[in-house]
Amino acid sequence: MAKFAGAFRVGAAHTERIIVSVLSRIELYHVAVPLPTPFRPAWIPGLPQTHNRFDLLRLVTDDGVEGWSAGPAMGGERRGLGDLLGPYLLGLDPTDIETVQQRLREMSYLGLRNAWIEPAFWDIKAKLAGLPLYRLLGGEDQPIRLYASTGQLRGPAARVEEVARRADEGFRSVKLRVHADSLEEDIAQVEAVTKAFGDRIRIGVDANQGWRVTAVAKAPLWDRVRARRFADACADLGVAWLEEPLAMDDYDGLAELTAAAKLPITGGELHTAGWPELRMMIHRRCYDVFQPDAMFTGGVAQTLQVIEECRAHGLRYTPHTWTNGIGFAVNLHLMAVGGDPDGFLEYPLDPPSWTPRFRDAILTEPFNHDRGTLSLPTGPGLGFTIDRSALRRWGRRTSVITAGRLALRTLRDKGPRVAAELARTRRHTAGPRSTP
Ligand SMILES: [Mg+2]
Repeated sequence: MAKFAGAFRVGAAHTERIIVSVLSRIELYHVAVPLPTPFRPAWIPGLPQTHNRFDLLRLVTDDGVEGWSAGPAMGGERRGLGDLLGPYLLGLDPTDIETVQQRLREMSYLGLRNAWIEPAFWDIKAKLAGLPLYRLLGGEDQPIRLYASTGQLRGPAARVEEVARRADEGFRSVKLRVHADSLEEDIAQVEAVTKAFGDRIRIGVDANQGWRVTAVAKAPLWDRVRARRFADACADLGVAWLEEPLAMDDYDGLAELTAAAKLPITGGELHTAGWPELRMMIHRRCYDVFQPDAMFTGGVAQTLQVIEECRAHGLRYTPHTWTNGIGFAVNLHLMAVGGDPDGFLEYPLDPPSWTPRFRDAILTEPFNHDRGTLSLPTGPGLGFTIDRSALRRWGRRTSVITAGRLALRTLRDKGPRVAAELARTRRHTAGPRSTP
């Protein structure tokens, strides 16, 4: 019976049939949305980012229901991923998330973690249920308060001006990035902002030390002493939270700092091992607030486990969202399900390059904030519609996988005898299409 847990019922009771959708088509696109000016992300010092770049996944069931997701990309590193997806995912009941999770796990054994694919299955599952995802997961319709998440490095004076603009737009919380060479410069920036706005804007600070990238330009790597001194200074200045002050796998250092600090220590956005690692970190109280991004940290299903475990241990959850419009949507739904009721959701915003227009460029309706808050999507599934003309303009289809194409490729690669053997085995292990 478990196999049909996600199925839906049609018809009058006496002729009732259980219909199971089957995943029959997978498409991949590479999308590169040009930005009006290069964006220089604080988390990759020295890199001018000219495009909002991601790989887009489109799933289609045999009854025509679509599921979408998107994984951030540096370039064409996922070329060829379609070869892997077909044999693992085609033919699945897309509402059977447990099996989807198992398939993604099997795909990861050779080193390719693709948590970002899983939310597309939830998109289908919620569409089949006729509900927005957050409703399917038990969340309530509520306005979500946002914090403006800055993305680039700035000096103290420019940062004060930037926060003033966000305050004028209605934000009540803003997150800063500090990456100066010296601790003193970092503290000076925080001090300038908290002195100007501390009484009316909740200020968070992201040190971006969790997954430091120094491949392009040099950048300081903090040790525990610097992290502790900075945390103490932030607490004295009334900062609301300090994010990722140490490497994300320095579990001992994080647990020590979180226990000692006088302000909440937060993090967890890129723990790609997902639930098993986050569970251990919750038990060790490595952060006060866990911020896993479902697109990296095991998908929606594993985030639900994190939410429950945080609750059980008196810790809080508010997701990281900085990828693209689709990643933002997935984490927005999860915020509505299990987000810290006193918390704010990350809203990536760094004009002129990183705005809803460019972040959400392939969605018909960007997630525009209204005075620092956002209404939840009302449509079924993830609640957005793909703008097909924008996708044609900025996207390039890189893979189409169907059962027929997969069979042909197997025939070509392995020869008729092995292809026939594989087809027989697959038929034998596949579940029934529908049951009377
Ligand atoms: Mg962060």
